[in-house]
Amino acid sequence: MSYLIKKPTFFYKTMNSNYQCNVYLCTMELLDKIQRKKSAALFAEAKEYFPGGVNSPVRAFKSVSGPPLFIKHGEGCRITDEDDNIYLDFCCSWGPLILGHNNAHIRESIIDTIQHGTSFGTPTKLGNILGKLIVENNRFIEKIRFVSSGTEAVMSALRLARGITGKSKVIKFEGCYHGHVDSLLVKAGSGLATFGVSTSAGIPESFAKETLVIPLNDRTALEEVLKQHAHETACIIIEPVPANNGLLLQDVEYLNFLREKCTEHGVLLIFDEVISGFRVGFEGAAGYYDIQPDIITYGKIIGGGMPVGAYAASKEYMSHIAPEGAVYQAGTLSANPVAMSAGYAALQMLVRPGFYENQEDKTKYFVGKLNDYCQQKNYEVTFPNIGSIFWVAFTPNRIQAADQIDPASMEKFKVLHHELLQRGVYLGPSGYEVGFISAAHTKADLDKAANIMCACFDIVFNG
Ligand SMILES: *Cc1c(COP(=O)(O)O)cnc(C)c1O
Repeated sequence: MSYLIKKPTFFYKTMNSNYQCNVYLCTMELLDKIQRKKSAALFAEAKEYFPGGVNSPVRAFKSVSGPPLFIKHGEGCRITDEDDNIYLDFCCSWGPLILGHNNAHIRESIIDTIQHGTSFGTPTKLGNILGKLIVENNRFIEKIRFVSSGTEAVMSALRLARGITGKSKVIKFEGCYHGHVDSLLVKAGSGLATFGVSTSAGIPESFAKETLVIPLNDRTALEEVLKQHAHETACIIIEPVPANNGLLLQDVEYLNFLREKCTEHGVLLIFDEVISGFRVGFEGAAGYYDIQPDIITYGKIIGGGMPVGAYAASKEYMSHIAPEGAVYQAGTLSANPVAMSAGYAALQMLVRPGFYENQEDKTKYFVGKLNDYCQQKNYEVTFPNIGSIFWVAFTPNRIQAADQIDPASMEKFKVLHHELLQRGVYLGPSGYEVGFISAAHTKADLDKAANIMCACFDIVFNG
């Protein structure tokens, strides 16, 4: 079966503390370990029921090799697949699990809540408790509305921006992802045209035309598009920490420039903080960079592993939302008590002093090890990082815009991903995805993962 290792790897390299690859472990054991027969069989079955065998596309492992892992258990920073292989996990459900898998506090809280029912379609006290915790600990928002996913949050935030301004166009950046909202599944048109071209079938051209797309980190493009279109533009949406197409960290000066230009031109600024919210700090990127956006969207971490999204803004802007205002937005399962209790249990831990400092220290420690090793070997790979997010970038250069990523470098990621799986380290199955470090990753776990990763870089670069 092609998903198994192509040439049998009987030796597996680990490093001593000087990071020299000189310890070889022999290992029929290893060969046993990497069997993924049950995952492969389940994937074959899943293909009967779901398009491509999955319920969200990137899970299908299309940009790396082999069948996706079917995971049955998670504990701390480890996940176990159906074949009982255990992996150190750096995907963490794509970001939500900042406290790691199966966190006892969150689990107990969900169990307590669920004893009373799962959803009432009425307000609940738990909604208030989570709303209060968030709003009182965030200087950049005054009111919040809970929804059930990041996509829903973004979709609603756009409607709010359009409702407030009475204008319809939206400006987005190439390389930022905002969920599968129709008008945001667009890329820049050819040439100098900034009108969006949809990246998915099923999106009317007229919708795509409502979106203007410009490159990140480009002041001229921003000034130009505002000069021409500000009069018809409701908002600019950006991931202030662009983390869905590599980690394209922007300079704070550029983000401040963006803020100033939006204000100058009467265009609202939306920070899509579905990843960065509660990740780079409790106040997300707004707090990290100390920039006041007009509307902020949240998702992922906010639900403690349950499906929750939210959008938030000043009292005045939020007063445009029904039933107070004319912008309609609703949800049958919005703010259900089970999701609220999970979110509250998680966020309670995050407001504790030192939480984010500790996360960042661990991440710097981990990335530092990878960096030292790869620099010493002159490998062309770098590790952009912020807070507890890191990216494996197969380039020696600092990258700040989507078109600077060399698609050919993804071949290297493919090899890396495969070799890491063989050795029990799980990264998200695409080189465009970032990695996350959770509170459950100990220094010992990070040492182990770093050693394995360095051995795999040897294979990537030297064969
Ligand atoms: C994940 C993500 C979304 C979409 O959230 P879903 O919960 O998957 O709908 C939107 N924006 C950003 C920045 C994201 O990272």
